[in-house]
Amino acid sequence: MQSINPFTGQVICDYSEYSSTEVEKIIAKVDQAFHSWKLTSFEQRAVFMKNLQARLLVKKEELAGIIVSEMGKVKREAIGEIEKCASVCGFYAENAQYFLKNEPIKTEASESYISYQPIGTVLAVMPWNFPFWQIFRFLAPALMAGNSGVLKHASNVSGCALAIEQLVCESGFPENVFRTLLIGSKEVKSVIENPLIKAVTLTGSTPAGRSVASAAGAALKRSVLELGGSDPYLILEDADIETAARLCVTSRLLNAGQSCIGAKRFIIADQVYDSFKAEFVRLMSAAKFGDPLDLETSIGPLARVDLREELHLQVEKSREMGATILLGGFIPEGNVPFYPPTVLENVVPGMPAYHEELFGPVAVLFKFKTEEEAIRIANDTVFGLGAGVYTSDIENGKLLAEKGLEAGCVFVNDFVKSDPRLPFGGIKESGYGRELSMIGIREFVNVKTIVVK
Ligand code: NAP
Repeated sequence: MQSINPFTGQVICDYSEYSSTEVEKIIAKVDQAFHSWKLTSFEQRAVFMKNLQARLLVKKEELAGIIVSEMGKVKREAIGEIEKCASVCGFYAENAQYFLKNEPIKTEASESYISYQPIGTVLAVMPWNFPFWQIFRFLAPALMAGNSGVLKHASNVSGCALAIEQLVCESGFPENVFRTLLIGSKEVKSVIENPLIKAVTLTGSTPAGRSVASAAGAALKRSVLELGGSDPYLILEDADIETAARLCVTSRLLNAGQSCIGAKRFIIADQVYDSFKAEFVRLMSAAKFGDPLDLETSIGPLARVDLREELHLQVEKSREMGATILLGGFIPEGNVPFYPPTVLENVVPGMPAYHEELFGPVAVLFKFKTEEEAIRIANDTVFGLGAGVYTSDIENGKLLAEKGLEAGCVFVNDFVKSDPRLPFGGIKESGYGRELSMIGIREFVNVKTIVVK
């Protein structure tokens, strides 16, 4: 398992995969740790979680440096990612007890209530694109609920995986409550089958989700899947076009476009199509790619060379099938896997850019005449993660958000962001289950009914 700096091309480290015997031993230790961890009070858990929050903030420069070197995120965004991890630790340290408190229910019995109990060791299979945030939004609620966890991180960010394990250890959590497994994706099935693993959560692509869901299904274990997205944004006739274009471009270019909830398809009212397009293309072309450590850089390289090849193929195939390239759409000179901000129009069903997730700084513009047509285009996808609506008619925006758009979250006059206070997740092939908020911490607990006669 190699970590390669996408900007310099240098191998940072060659990691040896753990053997199956090592993996089994670690899981046994994590399970053992669970049995005492589950008995700790929320107050005790919160002390460790707050320590973890503080460690993240103290070490944010160093940790952001690992992110930058392993997957090429610009440093400014990497620091923001670490700060967000600290905030989710604080959020669950403060709220877990309230989210999981006993809930009385009136019956004929003298007492009846719901008690939320931890279930054991949860496996987290995670992606490289937010190599700290994805882990912390699992880790913080899982540990605060009294579960233990093992992490199988993406193979190109093992440095991040080991740094997270060390951080948890440094924060005073009991030994083995959270461990990293350096293993490839082929080993995931046998980990899921291990009787000491009680549930699995995966954030990643739809094919990986299918594979993990089928292994979890066969083993009758609970799973949460956070998968890909092709988020549509409706720009209505009455939208503030400048603001809409600015926020849409920000979302499309965040993390060099490698975000599940990046705005990807822009469905624009006929009357404002030209003005939105002009402003959108102008802002996309103003973004500069370069050294991710340089604070002036807006977009770093893509995380791996193969990911750029895949993205360019999607653009090229769409172009050959009749799509128009308004901006970008070429491989820049040099060995660094940069991809320029790219804008496509005249994209129709059958083209990769119409159906597939574009995991890079590539935007697709569509034109609509009626709101029904806009909704039809927006929902004409296998994905259902996030969506946006820009309009000055808030009531209509809410109506389209609630009743029209098929997505797990819809933002009106803003772009979709994850927030510890709000549930996060998708529908359709974007997955199932929710992370974050009260709903997220309740995904991996035993909802236990207690009745006293
Ligand atoms: P990926 O290739 O699916 O990998 C994600 C994780 O799954 C990695 O740890 C990977 O391990 C593992 N994996 C891959 N194939 C597997 C299989 N067949 N069985 C078990 N595990 C498997 O995804 P990625 O390229 O890292 O991340 C990009 C994708 O994640 C995009 O589609 C993006 O939209 C999605 N994503 C979704 C969310 C969300 O919240 N919905 C958030 C972020 C990203 P290896 O690295 O060893 O292959």
